[in-house]
Amino acid sequence: MTSALFPTFARADLAFERGEGIRLFTPEGEEYLDFASGIAVNSLGHSHPHLVEALTEQAKRLWHVSNIYEIPEQSKLGERLAAATFADVAFFTNSGAEALEAAIKTARRYHFANGQPERYRLITFEGAFHGRTLATIAAGGQAKYLEGFGPKVDGFDQVPFGDLDAVKAAIGPETAGILIEPLQGEGGVRVVPNAFMRALRDLCDEHGLLLILDEVQSGVGRTGKLFAYEQSGIEPDIMAIAKGIGGGFPVGACLATNEAAKGMVHGTHGTTFGGNPLAMAVGNAVLDIVLAPGFLEHVRDAGLRFKQGLARIQDTFPGVVDEIRGEGLLLGIKCKVPNKDLIEALRDQHLLCVGAGDNVIRLIPPLIIETPDIDLALQRIEDACAAVAGAQATVEAGQ
Ligand SMILES: *Cc1c(COP(=O)(O)O)cnc(C)c1O
Repeated sequence: MTSALFPTFARADLAFERGEGIRLFTPEGEEYLDFASGIAVNSLGHSHPHLVEALTEQAKRLWHVSNIYEIPEQSKLGERLAAATFADVAFFTNSGAEALEAAIKTARRYHFANGQPERYRLITFEGAFHGRTLATIAAGGQAKYLEGFGPKVDGFDQVPFGDLDAVKAAIGPETAGILIEPLQGEGGVRVVPNAFMRALRDLCDEHGLLLILDEVQSGVGRTGKLFAYEQSGIEPDIMAIAKGIGGGFPVGACLATNEAAKGMVHGTHGTTFGGNPLAMAVGNAVLDIVLAPGFLEHVRDAGLRFKQGLARIQDTFPGVVDEIRGEGLLLGIKCKVPNKDLIEALRDQHLLCVGAGDNVIRLIPPLIIETPDIDLALQRIEDACAAVAGAQATVEAGQ
């Protein structure tokens, strides 16, 4: 089939017309459980009444004004994020990659402001994913994303995941900071141990480096904490967020302490769309719900029930499931079969999920999921595993 789109995506032959809660519906009215959430974006599911109202009310009043004016909704969201996190200030963007770009620029300008412009390099980790701009593919360091796009943007030194000695060895006179996802999503739902996060914080303090977190995927309640870093008891200096904060509207932000952001003075950075009234109305509406009493507890309870159910499925199908990974409602199955086989079997069961590196599938339902739907999903996952195991047995018998 010819198409007027870049063929950059491997698209499933599936389109949706409508969404409600954790469910998506095709034009033919077929129903799917959405455990992909637009890749951890639809944090409150589809058509959440509070988000619909926030967006439509704002749309009737004012869509867009430039950042050359005050945007009260933006100030409000900045203040609320600052109050709820380590940060003092925010810069709003339209995407995760732009939030990372702002974070990288903020880190470099910090050392510039300190009279050390030679300190511009960031240490990053194998398996990382930070976006698809020229600088963020360099930060992520994955060959498949870098190939053919000219010289790799300079300033990123990658070390193996979880290797503290390699981090120490990589620190030099040009190092500005360390950039890490507390939980690698794209890289295969790999959780960074709390002790490792604390060791990175100590190294940063010792060497005058900035600790920069990428919580574009792990943030905004996804792991059962507002941000995954809270689990380790440390605080970063700079953090990029996006995905879940917009609930489906494109919003990102670079959060920072006043100290870390001190180089980002008037004129150093900008955006046309970032932080516009529509985006900010939705971001504030998402926070209304995620910060409401009991919400994060609900995510933790739901995540625990789901993970325990997945562990039972692992016991039943050891030939299909290698390992269950993740925190809260950012869970992964490391597969013993090719992960695409399980993704297809799940799609046959009308359950949508996302692949990840390391032969993992990501299960990232909307955070509002309730117990009956977790149990329904577990049943479908079990049926999909049975189908895959059956196909495997047939192949082996035929050999
Ligand atoms: C998705 C993602 C990004 C990039 O976000 P975009 O909105 O696609 O630019 C960056 N970092 C992490 C950890 C992500 O999951």
